[in-house]
Amino acid sequence: METSIKRAVELIRNSGYTVAFTGAGISVESGIPPFRGDNGLWSEYDPMILDLNRYYYGSEESWPVIKRLFFDFFGNAKPNFAHMVLAEWEASGLLQTIITQNIDNLHQEAGSKSVYEYHGNSRQFICLECGKYQLLKDTKLLNTAPLCVSCGGLLKPDFIFFGEQIPEPAASQSVKEAGKADLFIIIGTSGEVIPASNIPFLAKKAGAKIIEINTEEGRFTHSISDVFLQGKAGSILPKIQEQIN
Ligand code: NAD
Repeated sequence: METSIKRAVELIRNSGYTVAFTGAGISVESGIPPFRGDNGLWSEYDPMILDLNRYYYGSEESWPVIKRLFFDFFGNAKPNFAHMVLAEWEASGLLQTIITQNIDNLHQEAGSKSVYEYHGNSRQFICLECGKYQLLKDTKLLNTAPLCVSCGGLLKPDFIFFGEQIPEPAASQSVKEAGKADLFIIIGTSGEVIPASNIPFLAKKAGAKIIEINTEEGRFTHSISDVFLQGKAGSILPKIQEQIN
């Protein structure tokens, strides 16, 4: 592990353009469970609650679960050491941008400025009738699905449901950032969600070195990772940070 950390430190110091690509694993130490794995949300709930049609025609069934899974967990979560190290790296010029699959806003709360949210976010809703956005802070979350203050239509959280497109500009910017990266750091993602999981492969193809941080081996480990650091993001990133200082 020591040798791999040293190698990671060297890659970070020598990179001219570094991109971090994060998934649910980086927020586990903030108290938000991931979707997959032993304690993953999908071992307890049916992923189809996030099907767009099912929500539109059956929000009375989907909404209470969506509220519990996303808004009740996310409401109390705070950034952990991993989010904070990435924000410090951006401020000191060691990291140029973050592409995140997360919708929990924790990178921004930690102080990161350049963040592309590949799957949208949970800070606002969109009205499925009139298309207007409504902020979470202006929306009362009850046990029935929230309705638009302008037209009374059904509001949907502004993260993507099954059957929806990846939002712009995140979709095209992520591809551009992957193409620019000298170093691409994959943190806490299983690589099972497509098309997000294609982005690290694009970075590798364009010549980036790949560091992967995860508690378990996954889709990237034996295919594209140059350095695999096995462990919790909230412990590994501060260890790298100590050696950079
Ligand atoms: P995933 O649930 O498929 O995989 C999580 C990964 O994190 C696993 O590979 C696991 O081994 C790893 N992991 C667990 N704890 C870790 C830790 N402490 N440090 C480092 N790695 C750890 O998550 P995914 O690959 O991001 O894809 C699932 C989708 O779920 C994403 O698209 C995301 O939008 C969504 N999601 C988001 C949140 C969030 O916003 N926090 C939470 C759950 C799911």
